[in-house]
Amino acid sequence: MRSLLIFKLIITIVTLQTVSASKFDKDWHTYSNYQEVVSTHVDLQLTIDFDKKQLNGSIEHELKYLRKGVQELVLDTRDIDIHRVESYRGGEWSDTDFVLAERDPVRGSKLTIALPRMTKRVKVHYNSRPEASGLQWLSPIQTAGKKHPFMFSQSQAIHARSWMPIQDTPAMRVSYTADVQTSSDLRPIMSAENDPKWNKNGNYHFEMPQPIPTYLIAIAAGNIHYKKMSKQTAIYAEPELLDASAAEFEDTQAMIEASEKLYGKYRWTDYDLLILPPSFPFGGMENPRLSFITPTVIAGDKSLVSLIAHELAHSWSGNLVTNATWRDLWLNEGFTSYVENRIMEEVYGKERAVMEQALAYQDLKKELIGLPKADTILHITIEGRDPDDAFSGVPYTKGQLFLMFLEQRFGRQDFDTFLKTYFNDHAFKSIDTANFTEYLEENLINRFPGKVSMKEVDVWINQPMLPSNSPRPSSDVFDKVQSHMNSWFSNDVKLSNIPTQKWTVHEWLYFINNLPMDIKLDRLNRLDKQFKLTQSTNNEIAHAWLLLNIKRSNPAVNTRLADYMISIGRRKLIVPLYKALLEDKNKLAFTQKIYDKARPGYHPLAQGTIDALFEKKD
Ligand SMILES: [Zn+2]
Repeated sequence: MRSLLIFKLIITIVTLQTVSASKFDKDWHTYSNYQEVVSTHVDLQLTIDFDKKQLNGSIEHELKYLRKGVQELVLDTRDIDIHRVESYRGGEWSDTDFVLAERDPVRGSKLTIALPRMTKRVKVHYNSRPEASGLQWLSPIQTAGKKHPFMFSQSQAIHARSWMPIQDTPAMRVSYTADVQTSSDLRPIMSAENDPKWNKNGNYHFEMPQPIPTYLIAIAAGNIHYKKMSKQTAIYAEPELLDASAAEFEDTQAMIEASEKLYGKYRWTDYDLLILPPSFPFGGMENPRLSFITPTVIAGDKSLVSLIAHELAHSWSGNLVTNATWRDLWLNEGFTSYVENRIMEEVYGKERAVMEQALAYQDLKKELIGLPKADTILHITIEGRDPDDAFSGVPYTKGQLFLMFLEQRFGRQDFDTFLKTYFNDHAFKSIDTANFTEYLEENLINRFPGKVSMKEVDVWINQPMLPSNSPRPSSDVFDKVQSHMNSWFSNDVKLSNIPTQKWTVHEWLYFINNLPMDIKLDRLNRLDKQFKLTQSTNNEIAHAWLLLNIKRSNPAVNTRLADYMISIGRRKLIVPLYKALLEDKNKLAFTQKIYDKARPGYHPLAQGTIDALFEKKD
């Protein structure tokens, strides 16, 4: 009964959404004719074939016409084999014509399907290919348990089209249902309502009643077990990772409650975490109801759980209110980085939140120097480019700083009210930068005159680098770390006398990141002898330390460096190491040797990024 009611509500929401979509500029990254006819619900019938590394089956689209006389449905695909297409009208299914165009390197192959009059539904029979950019297939040896294969999807930004023919644009939303079959020793799960019980016949049914953009449709399968953490939260993971994950992420329920207090109700029922094998290319992916999480943040001391706050924050910014095109990515990631930090402040206190702001700010300043100027603009131009290019610290941290700037000028109370209302007013809708700016002007700038001008807003959104009025987060705790470091460099204090026993991971990161770039090898090795940094089991500390040692050409870290790069596939942690190594042509052979070993274990997205770094060297 309850689900029926929810379903009616969703139909209303979908209708509103489709009407509002046309106010945006066309999304360059989709071929689909979503401004004429939209798919409002999809049903997937899939078999997971681990031997062939492919998904086999069909996708059915329920259509809603926005214009009269539409004679074709255009879907996005990439590297998909289409077997047959059927249309449904007058109570029966019949084959219909289709044309699959040549492959465009960025957008893939446009699939044009003839729509006989009155077609209400279209079903495409297809299989994905082993090279699908949105799927990774892991052999047992690449998993924690080493006995079962594992597969998972990563659909953001435009990889959903590599495993299902779909209108692949964040301007539109679909609800979905799915029936998935796999061998009985494996469990599939999706970004939907999941049954915690293991179904030993290998057949699973999924329902996602809330409309979501296609990049949030997600699937995984493997030896995936379940552990409940609290009333709304649970862990899905290989059994080897289950207990450590549940202990590390036990504060997730408190994070949900903190977010609800600030920004209104959590609208996705449960919030579960799927812990992936270490080759997952990202920190996390905010797939609704079921965030996908890298195991590299299981540190044993909750020091890296801001990642969970981040993925949870997407339940408001991104999943509930969605960027209409990938040019508007900062509306997803800037808002989420801001909300993440507010959640961290609520749950772990101001001092930690400020340290995390300060570290992110330092990282951004370094990154800005190396980026093309045009890519330091929040409202980035990415026509003709892969939208994955838009993922830098700019949409995340510059976006966050913009919101911190607004918070500082308007005061926390009024800015919180604005943000909560913004999420409410745009729930289950997409928004682009122009519409956001208009909304901001009407609901904040004009309501409290004299605090921020639209000229200042324009500089933040449309000009490169950081504006002169940007907040510059700094932390008193880090100032103390800095003064200890200075004393050591001026030989006033011995390393053993620096009170590091109670340092947090954040203090260590600040310390390592702020060591002088020309530090002598002798000093590096003394630090290592005292603090065992090369052997740190905290992946962020190890990353920062290894990066510094690459830049100082310290051969003492080489064995650990190779182990680290082969065992982890998270792009944020490995790509900067490859970049730094490849800057020195004397290290090319060493780097190539590591990559030859590591590459088969990386996700196609990580492989693509690192292949490109090597190609630049040729
Ligand atoms: Zn994010």
